[in-house]
Amino acid sequence: MKRDEIEEKYKWDLTKLFRSPKEAIASIDLINKLIEKIILLEGKILSTEATFEEFITLSEELDNKVSNLYVYAKQSYDVAPSDKQVQDLYAKAMDVISSVDTKLFFIKNELLDDKNIDKLKKYYNDEKYHDYKMFLESYLRLLPHTRSKEVEEVYSLTSAFGEGFATAKDTLKLKYPPVRVNGEEKFLNQATLQLFLENKDRNIRKEAYHNFYSKYEDFAAIYAATLDGDMKYYIFGSKVHNFSSSLERSIFNDNVPASLFEKVLDMCNNKHRGKLHRYYSIMKKLSNLDDFSTLDLNVSPVNDVDLHFSIEEGKELIYQALAPLGEQYIKDLKHFETDRWVDYLTHEGKRVGAYSFGTYESQPYIMMNWVGNLDSVYTLCHELGHSMHSYYSNKNNRALNANYKIFVAEVASITNEVLLTEYLLNKYKDDISVRKYLLNNMIKDIIGTMFRQAFFAEYERSLYAHIESGNTLTAEVIENLYLTQSKAYYGESVVLPEELKYQPYCIPHFYYHYYVYKYAIGEACALSIVSRLLKDNSSKQAYLKFLTLGGSAWPLEELKIAGVDVLDDQVYDDALVYFDSLITEFEKIMLK
Ligand SMILES: [Zn+2]
Repeated sequence: MKRDEIEEKYKWDLTKLFRSPKEAIASIDLINKLIEKIILLEGKILSTEATFEEFITLSEELDNKVSNLYVYAKQSYDVAPSDKQVQDLYAKAMDVISSVDTKLFFIKNELLDDKNIDKLKKYYNDEKYHDYKMFLESYLRLLPHTRSKEVEEVYSLTSAFGEGFATAKDTLKLKYPPVRVNGEEKFLNQATLQLFLENKDRNIRKEAYHNFYSKYEDFAAIYAATLDGDMKYYIFGSKVHNFSSSLERSIFNDNVPASLFEKVLDMCNNKHRGKLHRYYSIMKKLSNLDDFSTLDLNVSPVNDVDLHFSIEEGKELIYQALAPLGEQYIKDLKHFETDRWVDYLTHEGKRVGAYSFGTYESQPYIMMNWVGNLDSVYTLCHELGHSMHSYYSNKNNRALNANYKIFVAEVASITNEVLLTEYLLNKYKDDISVRKYLLNNMIKDIIGTMFRQAFFAEYERSLYAHIESGNTLTAEVIENLYLTQSKAYYGESVVLPEELKYQPYCIPHFYYHYYVYKYAIGEACALSIVSRLLKDNSSKQAYLKFLTLGGSAWPLEELKIAGVDVLDDQVYDDALVYFDSLITEFEKIMLK
């Protein structure tokens, strides 16, 4: 299908940002004028209340203009990448963005300059500047971690090679031996590996698993060296900036205590891990294999369900599923239809995947590739969770405080997904095959976001610990640690093939510096929020309030307003007891 053959109502309305690429390009002039105005404030940002207020207003205006340009360019490009006008616009937008950073680099230095600190504190403590509190605090918090101008200058020069380790491993493009399926050779890469591992024929799974992972044997030393380099560079940055460890550095931006990281790991990897092992023992029984192993985990124990939904039916389902969020939420949500937030259909040239995006001044936008199965409905429901979070955050905050942190972002989208599952489980309560399918999906989701991520986080921490106590990460260390920790993770029901030890080389997240534990928190919060939403009305108000907060408070405070204290065991207990109840039902209907 071509884009111009698709009905308007199934395409997003980007004209609300700009009427044409030409108009978007014209906005670059305004952007440059704003930059010039901000540069005129150099040296006097904090000198008077008037200049300070002017600086904030201009910064907000600039931010809005730049993000309007970027979002319009990117989204136009995602649906029409071969359009010359769009390509030109995209390149120009990227140039503008990098020039803003360079031209306004002085701001950070000026705000953190010794002679300005008292002013910064004065504004911070002045109730009149309540709206600027988060902005000012984000600078004040940097003070103990900011070094002299010379040190910072030298440090910034190191990024040219320090950040190269992660890119170095990406340049290694491995070619895997093909997999034989019915006498035919089939292409193997990371994406097709997943499909081969879902195949009911164990020989195909075995061959794919072996051909894929054993390829890493010859390159293990190189992968180990790049990971070692990347982690050492991150640790170097932590030391330069006075952090007590790499973990302390990584949690700084979210302003959470290190005990939160420990809490998530303890809950998922110690206290509740037995629940995961129970699931694996059921999977082993269902497989009828004595040597049930990691290469058998992706074979679905349930049949695909033949459920198809038109876009209209999908929307209806979502309205029903999200009804527990109240009439006002549904009323506001309906804007996604009337204002055309969504670009639904797949067509020639459109990028794959799905996302929710937008700017402070625009409506939210969703890109997706609707194919009409249950997954499509879930994707739309998930992205609408992000979109509504943005919609309320933008509406209730000035630009400076509107953006919420990634740390809390997945709460809104997973909450929507869990509500959809609860609704469907109820709708199909007498349809065993649909129930099996839904339970299996939900169980897999929770394993993927909670248990698996907490396992990765623990593994990542042990790699850092190895380096931070003065050692080098070699392939042997990386592989042995992985095998030992995998044994504890999978438990007694799952056999581990020798090649599993190469898996860490294919996981990009270990280059993200303690990122993955946030997934587990998002899921736990969503499960806990939904369980209370379905019980009492007051938790609905708390959750809706949370959606309006944007970036006006720190993540832990925002989550508390939503009714979840992520430092308390209860959140994880609730989530994983719920997980356990899903397994119990799954076992009952699968093994009877
Ligand atoms: Zn998401």
